[in-house]
Amino acid sequence: MSLEMRRPGGGRGLRRALWSLLLLVAQACGGCEGSADGRATPQEEDLAGRREKMVELQLASRGIRNDRVLAAMRNVLRHRYVPDLDPSRAYDDRPQSIGEGQTISQPYIVALMSELAQVEPPCKVLEIGTGSGYQAAVLAEMGCSVYSIELIEPLGVRARRILDAEGYGDRVHSRIGDGYAGWPEFAPFDAVLVTAAAPRVPQPLLDQLRVGGRLVIPVGDHWQKLEVHTRREDGFERETIIDVRFVPMKGEVREAQK
Ligand code: SAH
Repeated sequence: MSLEMRRPGGGRGLRRALWSLLLLVAQACGGCEGSADGRATPQEEDLAGRREKMVELQLASRGIRNDRVLAAMRNVLRHRYVPDLDPSRAYDDRPQSIGEGQTISQPYIVALMSELAQVEPPCKVLEIGTGSGYQAAVLAEMGCSVYSIELIEPLGVRARRILDAEGYGDRVHSRIGDGYAGWPEFAPFDAVLVTAAAPRVPQPLLDQLRVGGRLVIPVGDHWQKLEVHTRREDGFERETIIDVRFVPMKGEVREAQK
């Protein structure tokens, strides 16, 4: 759209109106990130500093060693995935509410699960529980193609919008539905990450791993054990990592064993 600035007679009024509009936009954007000249705003610098501290104090010092994971956690703008939260709180050492009674995991848990997946690009990873989209973005930033399934429609729709806006549109494929049955059309996967707690390990998710592929999943009720199931030629190997607390996985996994 173009605006003509010098219409006879109406020029001054129009110019004044445009100035007020500019001023309004500038004021409304007081908290926005990015500036017209491409330099980081003070808020952006503050959040970058918080991300750096998060990586040092919450991840590296607690034993996360994979450089690809550390770089991804440094690069993904976590605060963009929790839109209702004060951005400076997004880097705290805790899970945060993302609406619909669900939570985005604490940064350490996201990093740990990403590291336990043991993936190298070009990797193909299935995630059950898109939630905010943050874990999917971290895996995409690590160089993987990500397939992510979310049961709660408004969360899946919002995550899709944010992932597109953050530039992960082609690397993260998502759909709404029960992740119990996985996404067989795109199997086998190098890793499957389940970000909700399951009372038992869904067999279809094990079946969709390639040989050598790893399923990372919290198993249990109130408190859970984070488990890794690695597919071998002749079966599965199970490792128990740490105690964790995730929101429950819902849907078919709750039905009696079939
Ligand atoms: N990975 C997410 C964390 C999401 S919390 C993030 O980075 O933000 C767990 C998510 O799993 C919730 O959004 C919940 O709705 C979803 N969920 C629970 N049961 C599910 C199921 N059977 N299939 C798919 N998603 C499920």
